[in-house]
Amino acid sequence: MGLEENVKIIRQKIAEAASDSGRRAGDIMLIAASKAQTPESIKRAQQAGIQNFGENYVQEFVEKYGMIPEVHWHFIGQLQSNKVKYIVDKITMIESVDRLSLAREIDKRAEGLGRKIDALLQINIGGEAQKGGADPRETRRMLDALLEFPNINICGLMCIHPLTKTPAEAKPYFAGMKKIFDDMNALGYNMKYLSMGMSGDYDTAIREGANIVRVGSLIFGPRQ
Ligand SMILES: *Cc1c(COP(=O)(O)O)cnc(C)c1O
Repeated sequence: MGLEENVKIIRQKIAEAASDSGRRAGDIMLIAASKAQTPESIKRAQQAGIQNFGENYVQEFVEKYGMIPEVHWHFIGQLQSNKVKYIVDKITMIESVDRLSLAREIDKRAEGLGRKIDALLQINIGGEAQKGGADPRETRRMLDALLEFPNINICGLMCIHPLTKTPAEAKPYFAGMKKIFDDMNALGYNMKYLSMGMSGDYDTAIREGANIVRVGSLIFGPRQ
């Protein structure tokens, strides 16, 4: 199947999942995870109506960035502090903020640009040693610390949940994230976005409360 058809089906499933959870399709942001995709494929996705793209690797992103005007970029990969300077003027949102040293650098670079950067706090919901993300139990403490940076607008939470064989197995991770998200909002933190779910389980993630989903292979086909 072609990319256009893929996007159409994904949009339908997003609308169904949104409706099942009392929301509208327009409440859900679809990010096309475009790592390893060529500028040509990204342009096709753009023509198919996708406006938001997610990139993982600084150098790859910077090379592609100039070739695809008029889209929004989210940074969704592990980010080294010394590379923040290359992306801070190009991204709409950094979804993978998971430590204060990184936040400090983003804040500094954002100040230099005179703009406030939208960011999500990444949570290591599965407690996996090899994955980025803050300890879920540290969420409140991290948010308190992040709120101290005047040039960062911390507006939600993101997770890369452990690899599961079925969407049903991913549910407890999504539910765990939603609980933290709701708890933080109840405490007065202004959490707007909950980014979770990928190709295999984005509709499940939406039913569990996600309002940003990051979908790669289901849009573009398998990565090279
Ligand atoms: C690659 C990637 C995705 C998308 O993965 P697919 O399984 O191809 O949909 C989502 N989020 C992050 C952080 C990724 O690196």
